[in-house]
Amino acid sequence: MRQSQLFTKTVKELPKDEASYNAQALIRAGFVDKTGAGIYSYLPLGKRVLDKICQIIREEIDNIGGQEILMAALIPKENWQATDRWATFDALFRLSGNDQREYALGATHEEVVTPLAGKNIFSYKDLPFGVYQIQTKFRNEKRAKAGLLRGREFLMKDLYSFHVDEADLDAYYERVIQAYFKIFQRLGLGDNTYLTYASGGSFAKYSHEFQTLAEEGEDRIHVCNQCRVAVNQEIVAEQKTCPLCGNEKLAEMKAIEVGNIFKLGTKFSAPFEVKYKDAAGREQPVIMGCYGIGPSRALGTIVETYHDDRGIIWPASVAPFRAHLVSLNENQTADEIYDQLTSAGSEVLYDDRDLSAGEKFADADLIGCPYRVVVSKKTLSQDSVELKKRADDKGELVKIDALALKLK
Ligand code: ATP
Ligand code: MG
Repeated sequence: MRQSQLFTKTVKELPKDEASYNAQALIRAGFVDKTGAGIYSYLPLGKRVLDKICQIIREEIDNIGGQEILMAALIPKENWQATDRWATFDALFRLSGNDQREYALGATHEEVVTPLAGKNIFSYKDLPFGVYQIQTKFRNEKRAKAGLLRGREFLMKDLYSFHVDEADLDAYYERVIQAYFKIFQRLGLGDNTYLTYASGGSFAKYSHEFQTLAEEGEDRIHVCNQCRVAVNQEIVAEQKTCPLCGNEKLAEMKAIEVGNIFKLGTKFSAPFEVKYKDAAGREQPVIMGCYGIGPSRALGTIVETYHDDRGIIWPASVAPFRAHLVSLNENQTADEIYDQLTSAGSEVLYDDRDLSAGEKFADADLIGCPYRVVVSKKTLSQDSVELKKRADDKGELVKIDALALKLK
């Protein structure tokens, strides 16, 4: 992509009420625009990153047999009344249609997916299965001050699974945990994300959160460094030691909840009367699990994790572009290099604008592509470009012929 064609610009003036680092950096670098408190629009750079995050999640959930769907986001009041959540879910955005009926914008989708599953489950032979979607959710959050970490409109991957019994749910739940570890590893968050024991509701003793250590995090977790698991402070009263090894020396840390998985049992299948016939022809309740990840919160978490005082440093797997090609008054050769790299399959942002070297370098640092490639009179005198990793201070001269391979 030629930067001269990119309709967004890097921003000098920040919205005054934006306190969080992730949103400040993403707004300044032109990844997102703030539409309102806790409401963001994704611009070309931000959309590319968000799509990459979603694609990683999609691949790993597909790998465990998840079937992707897209459910309605406008959900009739009757669905919420069936589970009593019309009255009890504080953060629901409620609205009325001109048909004299009331609706809520989807804050979560058990009230849609459960009756949907019920239309497709007859006997034990129809189970198990998992369905998921990646969709915008709406929650009337009271504290929308953490940028992308807590939006009032945000993206969620929500997976729901349906089983004949608890043992089958338990086995599936373990597979989801492994898939989540792969996802966070691929997002660059593997090293500082902990499987965290949290309160489980009525069906299971615990639910599990995936918590990424970060100063900006709202949650307090107690980490066991031997088992690499943690306990959420909200339940630590009853769990003062590591649930796996009994270690009493847990370290208190701040963290961001990037994912959350739950065993639901019959909590939703009971009110919607979702049952199956077992091999003997007897009716049995369907057992459910639900599994969330916030791709937009993950994006914010990556920015909180990977930056320096000049801007973002994207992990290669989710970077908007692999390389930022910066031409210093050498557009003729840079055009050729750009064509070479893009036809070799590299994703390149090409700064072909008429700006000073200082302005271009500052923007490249702010935007944070993993590699910067500088084409100048000086480098061309040696048939070379300067290749520098975003996180490094010094670059190296690389022959133009060797560049495409080097970037692979
Ligand atoms: P929290 O405890 O942070 O309020 P939650 O437990 O209500 O979140 P879930 O309903 O389990 O969250 O949602 C699944 C995932 O969706 C969360 O793990 C998180 O990654 C993401 N998520 C939830 N609320 C928000 C939000 N307001 N903004 C961005 N992402 C969110
Ligand atoms: Mg939570």
